[in-house]
Parts: sequence; structure tokens; C-alpha cells
Amino acid sequence: MLRAVLGRVCSRVTQVPVAVQVARFSAAAIPAPNPKPDVPYTQLFINNEFQDAVSKKTFPTINPSTGEVICHVAEADKADVDKAVRAAREAFNLGSPWRRMDASQRGVLINRLADLIERDRTILATLETLDNGKPYAMAYTVDLDIVLKCLRYYAGWADKWHGKTIPIDGDYFAYTRHEPVGVCAQIIPWNFPLVMLAWKFGPALATGNVIVMKVAEQTPLTALHLASLVKEAGFPPGVINILPGMGHTAGAALSSHMDVDKVAFTGSTEVGRLIQQAAGKSNLKKVTLELGGKSPNIIFSDSDLDWAVEQAHFALFFNQGQACASGTRTFVQEDIYNEFVERSVHRAKKRIIGNPFDLKTDPSTVDEEQFKKILGYIKTGKQEGAKLLCGGNPAADRGYFIQPTVFGDVSDNMTIAREEIFGPVMQILKFKTLEDVIERANNTMYGLAAAVFTNDIDKANYVSQSLRAGTVWINCYNVIGPQAPFGGYKASGIGRELGEYGLEAYTEVKNVTIKIPQKNS
Ligand code: NAD
Ligand code: MG
Repeated sequence: MLRAVLGRVCSRVTQVPVAVQVARFSAAAIPAPNPKPDVPYTQLFINNEFQDAVSKKTFPTINPSTGEVICHVAEADKADVDKAVRAAREAFNLGSPWRRMDASQRGVLINRLADLIERDRTILATLETLDNGKPYAMAYTVDLDIVLKCLRYYAGWADKWHGKTIPIDGDYFAYTRHEPVGVCAQIIPWNFPLVMLAWKFGPALATGNVIVMKVAEQTPLTALHLASLVKEAGFPPGVINILPGMGHTAGAALSSHMDVDKVAFTGSTEVGRLIQQAAGKSNLKKVTLELGGKSPNIIFSDSDLDWAVEQAHFALFFNQGQACASGTRTFVQEDIYNEFVERSVHRAKKRIIGNPFDLKTDPSTVDEEQFKKILGYIKTGKQEGAKLLCGGNPAADRGYFIQPTVFGDVSDNMTIAREEIFGPVMQILKFKTLEDVIERANNTMYGLAAAVFTNDIDKANYVSQSLRAGTVWINCYNVIGPQAPFGGYKASGIGRELGEYGLEAYTEVKNVTIKIPQKNS
């Protein structure tokens, strides 16, 4: 998916912005969006029905490229969480249509949902652009492609997730059953709204769980459109429930709920801690977390410089730096440092900022809060002595656009080298030796991803073995496919998503032991 779409694009076109790359790659295949679509689905989705919040409260969702309100959306709180959890529990009870359904049929339903998403791809990409601000070309080609491939990948797993038979001591025989965990709360962020939904729906549904998802308050619209497809696809009531709402109310109610069996979260490390605490203080529900990162991207002087500059740029500026795995610490070996910095600045200045429905532009950041936070980090970077080489300011009179920004001469202890900025701000650090850079790369509380660029295979393997991160890319970046696991070491998370490993987080393993009668006993 990312590899299919962006990898190929990047390898062919090396000196143009990512958004332009996508547009060039597939403009002919992208149908025109409708930048002012009807938005019919704005309510909570519980038990296969759209409904108002118990409190009747709503909240506005904003178009970040203009700052204008798109529409108002029902705001779930504790009472709605209780309702949704009850519906989910009922759908999960033994004897329910979902529990009696053949595993192969679950796969059919997930595939049907994917087909309906594909049918509505233009609408969904349009809504994603309106609500999140990401370029329409990107939403259509990259995000929707990832969503479809992820759901179809997991549809295939539905009837293939087998237990084991185990010979144990004595006159016994044991086998394991892979059973669903039960009612799964899923709490997702705003940076890839539909992608995050698909990463969580796919393995949960394939393994027979039921879902109460809280979508991000900044970007509820695509999930609500998708909710309208759930019933059409044929999922029984209560299997999938979708709640727009705030984190400290609806999100907190889910993570502390006594009848939720598992919570899966993607977002900030700070909230990840709160969720783990809430789980511990309530019913010790299972917790999987996909959190932040400060991922090192190590460029050795023996790498292909053109490729490394382009990939380091892509590693940081993809999705405006609003990606958990972004390469936010670019370590460059000293003998190529000056040239690398010069080329990276030149590259960043080529980015075009503007209307996300124009196929050639870069997105804004997601909302005023992120916008201010990023500008705050830029100020701190300057104050702490990093060299601002380009950008650093808002990029438009309205909306939440920030100029592509590059800092050089960054040192390890600066705030911008330690904390997640989640914006279009690149940090370049100089290093001397292999051992030195490994130690510095690992000197962080995070461990989500890392990359190494070199033409020496021994060096590449040594470094990738030494880095404490859940993903290591060699001579590439942001290559994520549904088949391979993704997740963090250290404070970047607990558990893995995607691939066969992703199924484990949604599975309870039951051991069944049987006595085998013997001739003389
Ligand atoms: P966040 O962690 O605050 O929000 C993510 C989700 O958690 C949202 O749905 C939110 O409503 C919910 N939430 C918030 N407080 C909660 C609580 N107490 N209990 C339960 N759920 C709660 O992230 P954000 O505010 O959207 O972004 C803040 C920072 O998080 C970003 O600057 C970035 O550093 C990081 N982030 C990381 C990722 C990632 O993919 N790892 C994604 C988005 C944001
Ligand atoms: Mg919005």
C-alpha cells in the first residue's frame, strides 16, 4: 500500500513534493471531488441505528484549511458509551447471530464493507480532506488504498486463525481455541482517520470481536459515513458501534468501563498512560497502545545521497509531519552533512501550500491547537540555539498552514530533538561514528520506528539489530503494508498492529485438556 503507491512514486520522481508526486502518479485516475458535499451522517451509530446523544449535545467539526465549521456532530458521553457497550455485549453473547456466524462468513462481511468503501471512495476521500485538511489526492490514493487493502487482508484471515494441538504429559490431550476477547473499545486519532479505523476494525472483526469505537473529535465525518455502510454490508446490530465525542468524557468512559474487555488506542503517549491507568483501576481490561515516536533516520556518508535526501524529506514531511513514525531526528554523517543540509533546505522550499482540493498542494495542520503547539516548538528550537534554515512561520492568512521548516545544528538535548512536534519541522543532527550514532539514536524514551541509509549491508544489518524500535527501514522510509507488524518498543506502545501479529491483540487463547481413556486404566 504505502509502498505500492508512494514507494514507486518516490523512486521515479525525486525532486517534487509528495502531494505532487501522488498527483502526477495518478491524477488521471482520481475522480473530481465535490468540495461542498452533503454531510448526512452526523449522529452516533449504535446498534446499527443513527441516533442523537442522550444529552442531545453536539459539537462543531472544522475545516482546517479555512477554519470554518463544516457541520455539527452528536457528542457522545458516558450515557451513550453505556448504551453502545450494552449493544455490543448483546451482539457478543453466545447464541447471537455474530457468535453463531461461520468464520468464513465474517470474512465475506468484511470484504463487503471494503467493496462499499470502494464504491464510496470519492465521497470518503472528499470528507477526509474537508475534515482533516489533507490533500484530496493523498486521501483518495494513499489513505483509501491503505484502508481497502487492510480490510481485505484481514477478511482473508477470518477463517485461518487456528489454534494448536499439544501433546502433554500423562493420558491427556490438549488443544487451544483462538477466541475473541469480547467488547473492544477502540480510540483513534485524527491524523489518518479512516486508516486508523481500518487498522483496528480489520483484526477485531476477523477474530470475531465486537467494537465500540470513539473517533477523534477533530475528524468524525468519514467514520460516520462508513457507519452507514456497516448495516448495508450486513453486520448484525451491535457488532460495530461508532461514537464521536471528546477524549476526557467519552474516551475516559470507555477506558474505565467495567464491561469493556479490551481497549486499543492510538494517539499521544500522555493519553496512552491515562488509558492504561483507567484500565488498571477498573476491570484490568486488556490494553494495546500505539503511541508517539521520535524516530531516528540515520544517513551514512556511503549512501546514495539523492535518494537519502528525498527519503529523509518524505520521512518527515509526509502528512505534514503528522505521523507517529515520522523520521524526526535526521542523523547525518559529518562528511556529507553540509551538502545534505543544503539539499534538504532546497527540497523543503519546493513544497507548495494551499487549497487541499488542488491536486498540487500540501495540507494544513489539523486544528488551531496543533498549529499553535508547532509554532511554539519552532520558537523553542530557535531559543535553544538550533539554526533555523527555512520556514518557521504561518504560511497563509487563514487556515492552519505552517511553512515547511528545517532546523540544522540540532543537538540531542534540545527540546525539538526530544519531544514529538507532529508538524512540518525537520531536525538535522550531525554524527561521526557508527557506535556514536547508535547510542544517540537509542537515547530516547520512544521506540516506534527508525531507518538507516547506507550501501554497506553489514552496516545496515548491524545498525538495524542495534536499534530499539518496532520497525527499522533500510534504505527506505514509511513503507507500511497490512502484512507486516507495526508497533512500538518502550514508551511508543504495547502490542502490535497489522499482519498476523495484529491478530494476537484481539485473541484470548483457551487451552482445553481432555483425558484419553487407556486400555489398562
Ligand atoms: P490524543 O492522544 O489527545 O488523542 C487521541 C485520541 O484519544 C482522541 O480520540 C482523543 O479524543 C482521545 N482521548 C483524549 N484524552 C483521552 C482520555 N483521557 N481518555 C481516553 N481517550 C482520550 O492526541 P491529540 O490531542 O489528537 O494529539 C496530541 C499529540 O498526540 C500530537 O501532537 C502527537 O504528538 C500525538 N499523536 C500521536 C498519534 C500517533 O499516531 N501515535 C496520532 C495523533 C496524535
Ligand atoms: Mg475537522
